[in-house]
Amino acid sequence: MKLLRKTVLCILIVVFGITAIGVAINHTLVTVANRSYDVDYFQNDVFVNQPNLDKDSPFTFFKILYRRVTQPREAARPANPIPVVALTKANLLDLPDDGMFAVKLGHSSLLLKMNGEFWLVDPMFSNRASPFSFIGPKRFHAPALSLSQLPEISYVLLTHNHYDHLDRQSIQALKAADPQYFVPLGVGAELQSWGVPAKQINQFGWWDEQTLSNGKLAFTPAQHFSGRGLTDRNKSLWGSWVLQINDTRLFVSGDSGYFDTFKEIGKRYGPFDMGFIENGAYAAYWPGVHMTPSETVQAALDTKSRYLVPIHNSTFDLAFHPWFEPLEKVSDKAQQARVALLTPRFGEVINIQQPGTFPKWWKQVMLPRYR
Ligand SMILES: [Zn+2]
Ligand SMILES: [Zn+2]
Repeated sequence: MKLLRKTVLCILIVVFGITAIGVAINHTLVTVANRSYDVDYFQNDVFVNQPNLDKDSPFTFFKILYRRVTQPREAARPANPIPVVALTKANLLDLPDDGMFAVKLGHSSLLLKMNGEFWLVDPMFSNRASPFSFIGPKRFHAPALSLSQLPEISYVLLTHNHYDHLDRQSIQALKAADPQYFVPLGVGAELQSWGVPAKQINQFGWWDEQTLSNGKLAFTPAQHFSGRGLTDRNKSLWGSWVLQINDTRLFVSGDSGYFDTFKEIGKRYGPFDMGFIENGAYAAYWPGVHMTPSETVQAALDTKSRYLVPIHNSTFDLAFHPWFEPLEKVSDKAQQARVALLTPRFGEVINIQQPGTFPKWWKQVMLPRYR
């Protein structure tokens, strides 16, 4: 009976997906800024990884679907509540303006207060990482900050257009603040279709840089893909960010498989005070586009990140691993490799210049049988 329900659900996902996405696709996504990009990572109207990845076998999709339907999951969602330190606008305004602070809000969403100015990275405040409000990965916990408590955001960094990183409701809630958006090539069209004025959108190709009044921003490569529907795969770019404000340097990985370019990023822009690096949603079915925990630790070493803050875990179930596995494994691997790991709870403020230590909060949330 359960199997039947799951099968029906899968059929619904495919049928509704094709119908609804077919209507919702934004065809302007194929327009890549106003620039003609003659770069080796743009071929035949789509962006490609460098080096390019082998194409997925057509059977992989069905193998994944079959496993979803037939195989029971272990701890896909936490049985106990994930601890969230609820933040308010007043808490954030109270942080000294001459300091550098970072807060994990959930999944890959970060809030930064750098020299008195607020930045958001991949803001995702919605309930589901999905084109639909009724189906798709549902968050385990509320964001550490509600949209109504957001301080005035000056800048937004986006890494790519997947639903768990680019959320329409979150972008529209930022309208009043009129932030400047720094986005990968092609993502601007989506923002404009949601009402963000063109003058607030800055599109970047890989290795493009922009000077800021008190620092520098660079968009660096990642090994991943993009798309929000069935016809826009790889029509917009994906990547990682380097943010330097005064002498503080941060690396934000976005989503990425492990690749040699991390070393190049470290060489050109490192060492970093802190690396916010993807750790979660990996699976043997898609080794090229997400990292295993040991690869996450290697990426921290390659980029010369002094502290590693693992992101992209504990908010959505996007793969097959138990929800706590990325943190358990990255914690072991970081210890073996002597990489300084920071595992704040969502909403806990990290003082970038003097980070404290954070306990392994997930141990309390895991059921005793997994500990
Ligand atoms: Zn992604
Ligand atoms: Zn993601």
